[in-house]
Amino acid sequence: MIFAYIALGALAALLALMAARAASTRKAPPPGTLDPARLQAFAGVEDKLSALIRVPTVSRFDPSEEDGEAFERLRRETLRLFPLVGERLLKPDVGDRAMLFEWPGSDASLAPVILTAHFDVVPPGDESLWRRSPFSGAVVDGYVHGRGAQDVKIMMACALEATERLLSDGFVPKRTVYLAFGGDEETGGVRGAASIAALLAERGVKASFLLDEGGFVASGMLSFADRPLALVGVAEKGYVDVAIGAKGKGGHASMPPRHTAAGLVAKAVAMSESNPFPARITATLARFLSDLSPYAPFGYRLLFRNLFVTGPLVKLAFSASPTTNALVRTTTAATMLSGSDKENVLPDKARAILNVRVLPGSDVASAMARLDAIASKAGATAEFAHHGHAVEPLPESPVDHEGYRALEACIREVFPEAGTVPFMFTAGTDTKHYVGLVEAMYRFEPIMQSPEDLAGVHGADERVSVENVRRCCMFYETLIRGL
Ligand SMILES: [Zn+2]
Repeated sequence: MIFAYIALGALAALLALMAARAASTRKAPPPGTLDPARLQAFAGVEDKLSALIRVPTVSRFDPSEEDGEAFERLRRETLRLFPLVGERLLKPDVGDRAMLFEWPGSDASLAPVILTAHFDVVPPGDESLWRRSPFSGAVVDGYVHGRGAQDVKIMMACALEATERLLSDGFVPKRTVYLAFGGDEETGGVRGAASIAALLAERGVKASFLLDEGGFVASGMLSFADRPLALVGVAEKGYVDVAIGAKGKGGHASMPPRHTAAGLVAKAVAMSESNPFPARITATLARFLSDLSPYAPFGYRLLFRNLFVTGPLVKLAFSASPTTNALVRTTTAATMLSGSDKENVLPDKARAILNVRVLPGSDVASAMARLDAIASKAGATAEFAHHGHAVEPLPESPVDHEGYRALEACIREVFPEAGTVPFMFTAGTDTKHYVGLVEAMYRFEPIMQSPEDLAGVHGADERVSVENVRRCCMFYETLIRGL
């Protein structure tokens, strides 16, 4: 009996502690609003974005399918639209799929900053699904339309326009600013970001932080949050394509063995789906939940601020939907399947591709080992689909860093209606090429996005509001002024 009392007492004490931790979270001050007159000062930047969209810089895995002339035209357009940038900044040669502008700072003792983006885009897909032609750059009804409007010519146009305006004001940044633009991010960044990074490495550049695409100000995406949230990507998952394969004896399908090669591969794929990688709360997720607490109701704060007890519950809840599941585990997606090429012929080999996104804190080798163990139980094998194409998860960048603080301050200024939280970006960016050159890497596109807006990224009808373009430009100007 006495033990029951002790246990009950301990439980009561624990609950009291949890409630106290949740209650101690200060509620965030009420959200502010941005004076529209301040955005008016950035009128015109949308036309420059439109001009960049009109150049169809579609990157392809096979360079012979690319329109090389378009990439050259984009370079000329950039120098025409931003003449002061072209005249006054240094332009080191970084090859034909990249542009680098160096703006020397006044204080050489301060570490530089790299503002990066990419100017290639993915193909438009079925053009009949677009309400404007994908490379029209039409500015109508308060939107700029076209491929690259969100992903991510907007960041290039706005970083350059902010620089152009600051140059015309005679402004000189304290730190050196690199404006670094890759032209093949969508196909891996080897010719673009990698050649910029190689040049900076050769010069021994060690930057304070880098800003790349990734997060955004999410509006209406977290139903319980009391305001939009600026999601600053501080971590990025790794990437590897795994080939699951099996061999069989070819022949006529009228007298099949018990298991064909296709059957073995199918079994391995099914097993990989029913045995997901274990869920884990990364340092980034823990910080995300804790920084989210001020914007959440008490029940959520109780959960988010007491992970030492509520961790298993949080992992379970996150596992329930694909978007949040990707934040707590390495994911595998079976994307391609092949076997025999005729209905009545047994396959002598079969193959499936698993697209694997590796959670930070883990690595490609351990993901491979786990999948190989699963495949071999099914009588199949697991190996790298393309050798040398695996990307390890990127290091989690600190939030206690001058770069994060600078971004947070700019977000308060430009998106006063939003809160700021760190998060993990589940897709890949050019950032991976800069690892080792920068102390901290942040992925944030300074625009407000709703779930409907996001559908245009790599989809049909990509567009961005003129207000977003102007806010994006204001963000860069505020950021560079404060560096
Ligand atoms: Zn992109």
